[in-house]
Amino acid sequence: MSPGIGYQPILWRIPIPNIEQQGIVVPRCDSSQATSETILVAEDDPIFRKLLQSRLQKWGYRVTAVKDGGEAWELLRKPETPDLLILDWMMPGIDGIELCRRIREKQRDRYQYILLLTGKDDKEDIVKGLNAGADDYLTKPFDIGELGARLRAGKRILSLQQELIQAREDLRFQATHDSLTGLWSRGASFDLLASELQRGIRAHAATGILMIDLDHFKNVNDTYGHLTGDAVLREASRRIGQAVRSYDFVGRYGGEEFLAILSKCTTDDLRSVAERVRCAVAESPISTSAGSIDMTVSIGGVVSAQGVPDLELLSAADSALYDAKRSGRNRVVVGS
Ligand SMILES: [Mg+2]
Repeated sequence: MSPGIGYQPILWRIPIPNIEQQGIVVPRCDSSQATSETILVAEDDPIFRKLLQSRLQKWGYRVTAVKDGGEAWELLRKPETPDLLILDWMMPGIDGIELCRRIREKQRDRYQYILLLTGKDDKEDIVKGLNAGADDYLTKPFDIGELGARLRAGKRILSLQQELIQAREDLRFQATHDSLTGLWSRGASFDLLASELQRGIRAHAATGILMIDLDHFKNVNDTYGHLTGDAVLREASRRIGQAVRSYDFVGRYGGEEFLAILSKCTTDDLRSVAERVRCAVAESPISTSAGSIDMTVSIGGVVSAQGVPDLELLSAADSALYDAKRSGRNRVVVGS
C-alpha cells in the first residue's frame, strides 16, 4: 500500500525536512544506536522502502532492501544473510507470512530475528503472523522511535543467541580437547578412530595409526618439575601437530603418549609421516624457562587391514611402540 493511499507520510514519522520544519517532534538519531548490523528490508512500496532504508542507514545499519518476497527469498537462501529482517506482510508473490514460514523451516546455525510490518491490527492476524515465525510486529502506520526500540530488542535477542551458541561451542571444545595441549582428548580420539575406520571401509582405503611416546619424559618432571614438564608436552604436541598431514588427527592418549590417526594411508605414507614426527621432536632442543631440553619420541605404527577392530589396531600399534622403545628409542617401528 502506498503512503498516498490511506497512509499519510506524516504518520510514518520519518523526519523528512518539511515535517521537521512544521515543528513536529520526531525522534533524533541516537548515537547509542550506532551499529554495523546488516538488516534485510523486504517492502514492495517504493516510497516506504526508501524512507525506511534512509532512516536505518542514519542509525548506522547496513541495509539490503528488496522490493518483494521472491527477491528476499533468493537472498535468504544464500549462505551469508543478515540476522535482522524487516518483512512487509503484504507483498506480491511470496508475502511476509510465507517468508517467515520458509525461513523457520530452513535449518540455519544462526537465528534470524524477524520483525513483520503489517497494516493489519486485528488480533487474529497478529497471532497468525507470530505463529508463522515472526518474532515481533509493527502495525502501519508506526512511530519511528518504536521501530528503533524494537530493533534494539531484536539485537539483544540475537546477541543472547550468539552467546549461547558460543558457550555451546566452548563446552564442545572443552569436552573433546585436552586442556594442556589443545589436542583431541583421549575419548574424542577413540571416537575419531572408530569413525575414520568406518569411513576407510566405505572408501576401500586403509587408515593408519601412530602411537607416539616421549622418551624418558619422567626424567623431565623429576629433574625440572611439572611446570617444565607441561611446557615440554605443549611444545612436543605442537611439533607433532605440525608434522602430520593437515587432514590427520592427533590426540593426547595418556600422560606423555599421543595417538595420530592417518586417513587414507598406505604403509609408505605411515612411515614417512612417522619419520617427520620423530625428526620434528628430535631436531632441536625444546626451550623452557628451566633451560633447553633435548627430547625424542618412540613411535609404533600400523595400517589397518579392512575391518580390523579399533582395539586390535591400538594393541598392534602399542606392541610396535614397545619394540621401538626396547630397540633403543628415538625410532619408528611399523607393525603388522
Ligand atoms: Mg506491502
